[in-house]
Amino acid sequence: MIAATASLWPPQYDPDYRPHSDEKYWDRARETMPADERDAVVLAKVQAAMRWAWERAPFYEQRWRAAGLEPGDIRSLADFERVPTIQKSELRADQAEHPPFGSYLCVEPHEIVRIHGTSGTSGRPTAFAWAAQDLAAIREAHAHIMWSMGIRPHDVVIVCSVFSLYVGSWGALAGTERLGAAAFPFGAGVPGQTLQAISWIRQMRPTAFYGTPSYALRLAETARREGVDPASLGLRIMFFSGEPGAGIPSTKRLIETTFNAICIDSGSMGEVTPWMNIAECGERTGMHLWQDFVYTELCDPQTWQRVPFGSRGTPVYTQLERTTQPMIRLVSGDYAEWTDAPCPCGRTYPRFPLGIIGRIDDMLVIRGENVYPSAIEEVLRSFDELGTEFEIVVSRRQQMDELDVRVEIAPSASREGLAERLVAELKRKIGVRVGVELCDADALARTDLKSRRVHDRRSTA
Ligand SMILES: [Zn+2]
Repeated sequence: MIAATASLWPPQYDPDYRPHSDEKYWDRARETMPADERDAVVLAKVQAAMRWAWERAPFYEQRWRAAGLEPGDIRSLADFERVPTIQKSELRADQAEHPPFGSYLCVEPHEIVRIHGTSGTSGRPTAFAWAAQDLAAIREAHAHIMWSMGIRPHDVVIVCSVFSLYVGSWGALAGTERLGAAAFPFGAGVPGQTLQAISWIRQMRPTAFYGTPSYALRLAETARREGVDPASLGLRIMFFSGEPGAGIPSTKRLIETTFNAICIDSGSMGEVTPWMNIAECGERTGMHLWQDFVYTELCDPQTWQRVPFGSRGTPVYTQLERTTQPMIRLVSGDYAEWTDAPCPCGRTYPRFPLGIIGRIDDMLVIRGENVYPSAIEEVLRSFDELGTEFEIVVSRRQQMDELDVRVEIAPSASREGLAERLVAELKRKIGVRVGVELCDADALARTDLKSRRVHDRRSTA
């Protein structure tokens, strides 16, 4: 007995099940199912999750009634496009009105076993409640997905990100434990910890790493300063979330060559945990959408209808195995393209072949052109002469938007003609003129979590 049956909701899993290490899939039937069969499974789970929420959450009952809908009206995935979407700001407002978990809490408060939340950098923080059922579902989903990355029970997984309200670290830990690998929850964020990480990695020889791409590059820099080649650390698989870097081709290449490991991109949103619901497999052909855990629709941001494969749009997520605060059509602030073209791994989940292209919130409009910071990163990381960090500064000079990048040059690199070549390549790839300032190695600020590399000074100028 492996897979949950669609008629049984919330899904139950055998906690003792684990495939043999030689198996390619955690659950072959589920992962390689033809698209139409999977759609039937997804529909049954959507219907069950909607009934669950309708009976327990005034938030959903009121919204759906106002839209003239009830769960019984959803007879196909096409019908599901009529369900109103949710913006994160609506979750914040509902929690302010119905503290502390909002009127979309679908369990009794005493059933909550874990509380996480947003950092609150963009307003009132939002609290996430997990019941025991949710923790089991998160563990299960992440074990499936980390198995697809190539992680096996004989691996040692070092988690180099902060253990706080941030769900990233905890999700990686939960998947590692369920999969049967050895978890090494090292953390991050304490002064001196990066140096300690190098020595612990040399001592414990972890084979897999989880963190943010910026942190991995910082780790490499620290290792080299200690005279240690990062490629000698013995890491085989490095998986990331929290920043777009691992999906940016030149950053991916840089991490892979630096550590002699494969670099895997994953991660949707904290609210959507199991956030690895979008994640690359070991083939690294873009992020698979694990549709029977979290149903991802790529939608037109005006109509919230799904766009055809091959097109771009905004991901809209529906949790199919979460009971506490199930998210049903939650809009992300991201932008992606999707495809149903086959992946060499044999999994039939559709993919975001380019990962998350950008956050709609991050998009800069410079002299009428849309510029994503990730496109700038793609150019900068393709220059071997540059160091680890960079900053993007937007300002207004004489009524004109100006875009400048401050880049560190690698310790042994020559400055000769470098700025001119960077300006030319940025212009060619991005379409706008970008000023370049070369800084010494280590001149720019570092962070242990998500780097804030964009400084938009137009509003404060
Ligand atoms: Zn694949």
